Amino acid sequence: MKDLAYHWPDGKKCAVILSFDFDGETPFLWRSRNQNVKTMGEFEQRRFGPRQGVHRILDLLAKWDSKASFFIPGRIAEQYPQAVEEIVKYGHEIGLHGYLHERVDELNEEEIEETLIQAKESLQKITGQRQMGYRSPSWEMTESAFNIIMRHQVLYDSSLMGYDHPYWIGGLPEIPVQWLLDDAIFYRYTGGSSASPPPINPKVVIDSWKQEFEGMKRFGGLFMVTMHPWISGRASRILALEELIKHLKKDTEVWWATCEEVAAYHRTAYPDQFRETIHHMR
Ligand SMILES: [Zn+2]
Repeated sequence: MKDLAYHWPDGKKCAVILSFDFDGETPFLWRSRNQNVKTMGEFEQRRFGPRQGVHRILDLLAKWDSKASFFIPGRIAEQYPQAVEEIVKYGHEIGLHGYLHERVDELNEEEIEETLIQAKESLQKITGQRQMGYRSPSWEMTESAFNIIMRHQVLYDSSLMGYDHPYWIGGLPEIPVQWLLDDAIFYRYTGGSSASPPPINPKVVIDSWKQEFEGMKRFGGLFMVTMHPWISGRASRILALEELIKHLKKDTEVWWATCEEVAAYHRTAYPDQFRETIHHMR
């Protein structure tokens, strides 16, 4: 019978990655780039992330001796260099996440390449690191975006969810995300005329994530949570995140890793298996 299971190092049952998309105000700036916006509400709400949220997260990760992966738009690195320096100082991974959090499906090829180069330069100035992983803003990808990130030798992509363990797509390791493990779907609330339902109780969110973790252990998947400092840096959510970390740390059957480490493992452990091509719905 074909072995469909994904095997992790040292016989571990699943891998755990804590990932953070350090967006701050950039999605708001991108969305309103052609408008004459006078409102300050969402802008200030988002700046809570770089001002306070990210520091609470860094303290929590240090307390539990955990390394995470941070995906950072170039503009955030330019605007808040000290916050990014601190992330580097703590030894976390830094990855690409657009320049102004542009959706790649709203850009032409030239613009995708320009924003990638600009973003890379901004991060490299702080980290000194030449090669990085990539996570697309809003988790949307196109064939052009894939071709461009490959040309610029990114280490992996982390934007899609075609499996719940690493796989290959278009010649790059894909470190899959998933909506169920994203904080925004539970917590994101910005008020105004487009208000979403009220945020979910953090206890309920952590409980859902623990259930998914149990499932991932049974099926050998990747348990990667994606959080945003402007969303998950809020007080009660930090307490809940600490409870999740405690729960995960008790478990000796999991491999704690960063996206970069998982991508490197996938390259050596699965050079030929789980290969997919970029497929279009036409
Ligand atoms: Zn983002």
